[in-house]
Amino acid sequence: VSSTRWVGIGGFSHETNSFSPWRTQVDDFSPPDGAILRGRDEMGARLASDCPAAGFVAEIEHLGHEAVPVVDAYATPSGTIARDAYQLISEKLVDGLLAIEDASAFLVSLHGAAEAEGSDDPEGDIISRLRAARPDCAIGVVLDHHAGVSDALVEAADVIVGFKTEPHIDTADCGARAANVVSRLLSGAIERIDSCLIRVPILLPPENLRTTEGPLRTIMAVAQELEQEYADRVVDISVFPGFAYSDKPATSASVLAQTNGDPELAAQLATKVAETFWRHRREFYVSVESPRDAVTRALASTVTPVFLIDKADHPGAGGVGDCSLLLRLLHKLGATDTVVAPIHDPESVAQARAVGIGESGRFRIGGRLTGEPYDVIARVRLIADGTFEALGPVDHGARLTTGKTAVLELDGIEVVVCEARAGLQDPEMLRRLGIEPTRKRIIAGKALGTFRAAFESIIGEAIMVDAQGPAPHDVTTLPFRHVRRPVEPLDGVLEFDPATTSVIVRGRTPQR
Ligand SMILES: [Zn+2]
Repeated sequence: VSSTRWVGIGGFSHETNSFSPWRTQVDDFSPPDGAILRGRDEMGARLASDCPAAGFVAEIEHLGHEAVPVVDAYATPSGTIARDAYQLISEKLVDGLLAIEDASAFLVSLHGAAEAEGSDDPEGDIISRLRAARPDCAIGVVLDHHAGVSDALVEAADVIVGFKTEPHIDTADCGARAANVVSRLLSGAIERIDSCLIRVPILLPPENLRTTEGPLRTIMAVAQELEQEYADRVVDISVFPGFAYSDKPATSASVLAQTNGDPELAAQLATKVAETFWRHRREFYVSVESPRDAVTRALASTVTPVFLIDKADHPGAGGVGDCSLLLRLLHKLGATDTVVAPIHDPESVAQARAVGIGESGRFRIGGRLTGEPYDVIARVRLIADGTFEALGPVDHGARLTTGKTAVLELDGIEVVVCEARAGLQDPEMLRRLGIEPTRKRIIAGKALGTFRAAFESIIGEAIMVDAQGPAPHDVTTLPFRHVRRPVEPLDGVLEFDPATTSVIVRGRTPQR
């Protein structure tokens, strides 16, 4: 009897900011910002890149099984997923996997922070549907580090592996790890996997979640030490800081420990990591200024360049990227040698093309969905296709684009308007437009953690700003409706006993 098994491979990944005015449609899951890829041929290019599905396929085939890639759908972070988009994608994924005759296992790459009309737990729903239809299959899941992990998901999956790095550089490795565990379940090398999920009741803004420094580095190190200490019985320990802006019951930080048939050990290890997390929780918050204070401070600064970092409207956290509030304040307060980049504004790009390079015209900059447009007369300095090669450490060598892009000048300020929803992520983005960042006094942009690595050697001073948008540092300003309460900081300072939020799930033995 051949031991070769058929393993269905699929994925659905969206980090939903429930407060974003950009409602997510099927078109958002299409190039250049996303894709719905079907079958091995279409998924081929993605499988060659660094993603969980690539790790699934490589490891499954390495172990002598047959990988059957079905659907992998992903899109840039944005608002709640429209009902028809979620139905279409989840059906293609679930039906596609269930259509594989003789499948012994499924490996599914999910985000964990998706939220859709009609489902406040898309990841749990998808895996529960697979489980209900195929109770005897082994199911392995990879989740993003920023996942909110639901009980339903832990109950339905056999093994869940979360990314261990931010920025995420271990996505394919996690896919391979999940594939390896599933293969061992099928061979009987692992009898069954018992899990303990502990919800850590806190919503964390994304500014200080890197695993290379700060509190998360400490917490991840504890998890890793425990994995090594109990290597013979531990399958995986994942730490999820979560994505605070996805307004669904499972949203919060959490810890998931999984063992080879030892529920008590799973609970003991998850508790240890969750307690460490709780002890360090205050270190996650950084100091953030109001827009007016931040601009005033930037104008008074004696070091250059000063970066005004607006995260509230960052597309990487689900913002539209069109807020022009900092531009308005900088202009009103007389800033010079200043650049504001980029602002998502296809209309101003079209207007710039109509006006022509070197000419002046009336513009309404940004603010279509976030805040208000800024009405000004500006001169068109440059129009470009917006492509550049990133040279920073995170995206090094990647060919990125801001879509059709224009540089407008108003008094001493250069404004970059573009078609894409983009953040300021690499100095090359500016240099390709003839803007030398080291010669500027102030650079205002929408940026997340990854920006720091790329601009490290240039930054004179960096000021965090809570401007307008759906991803503010102060999460208490958002109208949450669905997250499980009580949770810090929405409900003040809490006491935390891991036993009260822990869910222990005894695993099952798949058909062999
Ligand atoms: Zn993430």
